[in-house]
Amino acid sequence: MAKYGSEVFSQYDTGRQFEKKNAPAAKTIAEARREVEVIRETDVIVVGGGPGGIAAAVSAARAGAGTILIERYGHLGGMSTGGLVNIIPNLGSIYGEQLIGGFCQELIDRLSARGAADFPDKQYWGKSETSVVDKYIKANMMHFYVRKNQKGEYVTLYTAVIDPEVAKDEMNAMVFESGSELLLHTWVTEPIMEGNTVKGVIVESKSGRQALLGKVVIDCSGDGDLLPKTGTETTDYMLPGSRIAQFGWVYWLCNVDLEKYDRFMTSEPEKYKSVTDTIAGEGGSAYFSRGLLEHQEGVVWVHRLIGSLHQTDIEEMTFIDTTTRKESVRNWELLKKYMPGFEKSFIMLSSPQLGTSGGRRIIGEYYLTEKDMDSDVPFEDTIAIFADNDRGDLSLKYPRTYIPYRSLIPKGTEGLLVACRAFSSDHEFQEFFNLIPHCMCFGQAAGIAAAIAVKDGVNVRDADYAKIRSELLKNGAILP
Ligand SMILES: Cc1cc2nc3c(=O)[nH]c(=O)nc-3n(C[C@H](O)[C@H](O)[C@H](O)COP(=O)(O)OP(=O)(O)OC[C@H]3O[C@@H](n4cnc5c(N)ncnc54)[C@H](O)[C@@H]3O)c2cc1C
Repeated sequence: MAKYGSEVFSQYDTGRQFEKKNAPAAKTIAEARREVEVIRETDVIVVGGGPGGIAAAVSAARAGAGTILIERYGHLGGMSTGGLVNIIPNLGSIYGEQLIGGFCQELIDRLSARGAADFPDKQYWGKSETSVVDKYIKANMMHFYVRKNQKGEYVTLYTAVIDPEVAKDEMNAMVFESGSELLLHTWVTEPIMEGNTVKGVIVESKSGRQALLGKVVIDCSGDGDLLPKTGTETTDYMLPGSRIAQFGWVYWLCNVDLEKYDRFMTSEPEKYKSVTDTIAGEGGSAYFSRGLLEHQEGVVWVHRLIGSLHQTDIEEMTFIDTTTRKESVRNWELLKKYMPGFEKSFIMLSSPQLGTSGGRRIIGEYYLTEKDMDSDVPFEDTIAIFADNDRGDLSLKYPRTYIPYRSLIPKGTEGLLVACRAFSSDHEFQEFFNLIPHCMCFGQAAGIAAAIAVKDGVNVRDADYAKIRSELLKNGAILP
């Protein structure tokens, strides 16, 4: 058994103090009233083109709704592309059973056909085939690919890694093929409210301030940007030092001679330890993951995490961005200086968007908590089953976690669904179930529900579950 990396990232940063220069809190100004041009009137408006948003827009449009997807950056994919966190984990359980299909599987299939996705062959899911397990341990991908089964053997999970640049192109294609409209480079700044009903959104862009009206709005901004002005009840509690209480900045190095690195590590273990100690002594780290795609020879990934409890605060974001960039470039300089194999390496890419892990969430019609992980009983409105792989013995006991449609519905606000990591759950549930494949499942269900509600002329909270279920199954989702 190869031993190259830690079993899981278990030591997260608890955060740091930094000086804030807030203006005196009491001072405000009144904005002038103004007329805003309405640029679209449609059925479904999807805010944010990350994993949740793409799935929502494609699914709503395929189910027959006039749909528009609005994204603040110039690419789709959110963290899965622009955040360089291009690993889609936990698609199946430790026992090898696939639990997530649907939109997520379709994307992986399309990328795989272009040589832009890598995952263990089906015959190895839940199996302890040493060569397969070793491949992922050697790549320092154990956290995503390898778990212990009931016999204490290491087994491989169904997890996929994708090429973020091909993914951006493929996601554009999926959105256009579905018939959904797309607006890039457009920030959604607030909801348009009529009483407690969301009627549309205000956007800001190079074209100015504009309005879009829709029958259903789906917030897929990750941070739940629409929520504060809807009056919806939210929480942003995170446990300091937990996974969701981290900001992440990822960068890729290329031109690394990994054969030379491996030779050095295995033939001169004492010298290798002394080099890693030197790097650590100068404030760096020799920990990296290896690119797994065939065309990524000589590419390694480094994740830089910093604890943060205020992931929508611009002063904190600026501090984290500049600090992680400085530390990351310094880290590469140390690797280049001391570590054999890194002499000709360079930083080929740093994530264009800062990685937010947790934050604002709705307290919706159903609030998912720890007790829902310790249960293997489906809800009557189940829209997805997640693999519970990250809780040790408890995961072996409860390998399936069920998600009800009600966890996407805010309490007391009409015309709105939330289909991103801002779904209704407490911090403990979020810690395990707000990842890329999960958000794709939320998005697929929300898009379908919105289209059904529009077609039936009912409020989206009253969308017919039997129809949602049937449309989900038709589109490859795995349900109880
Ligand atoms: C360092 C780090 C590593 C991670 N590693 C993994 C991993 O390996 N695998 C995994 O599955 N998960 C990982 N995660 C978690 C994962 O990235 C997120 O939980 C997931 O991307 C959430 O998807 P989402 O659709 O909710 O939001 P996001 O991916 O954040 O997408 C939100 C989208 O909305 C857009 N948007 C936001 N606000 C607005 C606005 N006001 N107007 C218009 N557009 C807007 C954003 O630009 C973005 O495209 C990681 C997270 C971090 C921070």
